[in-house]
Amino acid sequence: MEIRTVGVVGAGQMGNGIAHVFAQAGFDVKMTDISAAALEASVERIGTNLDRQVARDRLTKADRDAAMSRITTTDQLSELGSCDLIIEAATENETIKHQIFADLAPHLGPDTILTSNTSSISITRLASKTDRPERFMGFHFMNPVPIMSLVELIRGIATDEATFDLLKGVVAKLGKTAASAEDFPAFIVNRILMPMINEAIYTLYEGVGSVESIDTSLKLGANHPMGPLELADFIGLDTCLAIMNVLHDGLADTKYRPCPLLTKYVEAGWLGRKTDRGFYDYRGDVPVPTR
Ligand code: NAD
Repeated sequence: MEIRTVGVVGAGQMGNGIAHVFAQAGFDVKMTDISAAALEASVERIGTNLDRQVARDRLTKADRDAAMSRITTTDQLSELGSCDLIIEAATENETIKHQIFADLAPHLGPDTILTSNTSSISITRLASKTDRPERFMGFHFMNPVPIMSLVELIRGIATDEATFDLLKGVVAKLGKTAASAEDFPAFIVNRILMPMINEAIYTLYEGVGSVESIDTSLKLGANHPMGPLELADFIGLDTCLAIMNVLHDGLADTKYRPCPLLTKYVEAGWLGRKTDRGFYDYRGDVPVPTR
């Protein structure tokens, strides 16, 4: 089987990056979202990001236009049924994800491969509620997708080798590197990264450091390209909280308890860059710490 058409469900920051890299690598991409505004913004963002690659001589104008022409959008999830591969990149909420796969089921071809870009939810559990757990995998891209070269491949308990090998081949076609992770809460990258971010938020909550001193410390003291609070804003604080909850519930260890300050920011709707406010306020010319 060869993958030619890819359906992307969810046109948020991950969905648009995923659509971008697949279209650039020559796949036809169909994207859907429950929000028409998100779909529109996503296509615009892909255009702007491809333009930047052209301006930096990393892409020709003709290749940019060809990539854009391979992307179509629809408000009907059912229209993705004809795709060879589905990548679900909707909000990190298990109920939403189960519903998407259930709604897709009657429209799918028999060979279509289903994947989820979830950062933390059990692939085995998501797969178990579909009609094809053997052709279901975790397909975890990193943010920002056009720049980050890793893709985590997560097999559910029932995933067959043919599906794993096919997706490994797809990752190579994208020019990225695959790492295989077992299906345990948050897999590899977020199992390690998210407790660090949560600890940075505890460090802020307990008054050990300010937003600026914590980020400066990790950038200059540990050579991280971004500080943990800046990174949390970039990922989305709702996504960070959802991942900590999955680690806490799934591993039943208090070391994963989400920091109350993280919960408070999410309750305020201060979700980071996507809402213009998180640990920094992005509404002005330069980000200003909010604590
Ligand atoms: P986001 O909030 O930017 O986008 C989510 C999109 O899903 C929104 O546009 C929303 O309208 C849409 N959506 C919600 N319900 C839907 C439905 N029923 N059908 C179609 N669309 C629906 O979130 P994101 O950061 O792009 O995260 C998406 C997924 O990717 C999550 O599972 C997240 O864990 C994972 N992920 C996120 C990151 C990150 O750094 N943000 C990294 C890797 C993986």
